[in-house]
Amino acid sequence: MANEIIKGLSRTLREMGRKPTTVSYPEQHRSQPARYRGRHVLHRYENGLERCVGCFLCAGACPADAIYIEAEENSEAQRVSPGERFARVFDVNMLRCIFCGYCQQACPTGAITLEKEYELASLRPEDLIYHKEQLLEAVGEQHHGDNPATIGSNTAWQPQPPADPPLTIPQQRGTFDGQAASAAAVGQGNLIPDPSSPIQD
Ligand code: SF4
Ligand code: SF4
Repeated sequence: MANEIIKGLSRTLREMGRKPTTVSYPEQHRSQPARYRGRHVLHRYENGLERCVGCFLCAGACPADAIYIEAEENSEAQRVSPGERFARVFDVNMLRCIFCGYCQQACPTGAITLEKEYELASLRPEDLIYHKEQLLEAVGEQHHGDNPATIGSNTAWQPQPPADPPLTIPQQRGTFDGQAASAAAVGQGNLIPDPSSPIQD
């Protein structure tokens, strides 16, 4: 009996000298692993236009039916994205989402990524349907999931290209089949159309 008490006390004394593994949440936060999947972020190009072209591929890939989109045509008076369309409504239902990342993988323009935000609890279920206004990054804060300060999810998940990759058509010409909108559809919407190209918009 005395032996067991001594063993127990010695264990306590040993642990007292160790650094705690817990943090005082919510005052302190742990840094998340590079591939952590938290709340979605909708991204912009460097020129401020939205990357989302309202193609519905993310909604189609979602196994939980958690994404609701209403797309609208861009016009010269109101250009929101470089593509033909933009997402006028973009909702993600966090009550259904299982954070699988399929939407991020399906998106051809890199418009949606799952980043590090994890404080999603709410007492009201309606608060857990995130609307475009909450998901879209602010103008001037574009990082496309690759902010080196936070190791964004695109950097962490996408395979790294070879050091000297062959140029693709949009990268060579700034256009794709002569259409800037088509270049936007493959994630090259911030490129300037090549003036020497025989095919112009
Ligand atoms: S992370 Fe998965 S479940 Fe959540 S919205 Fe994207 S595809 Fe749907
Ligand atoms: S797949 Fe990407 S571009 Fe298409 S609707 Fe979803 S977020 Fe927008």
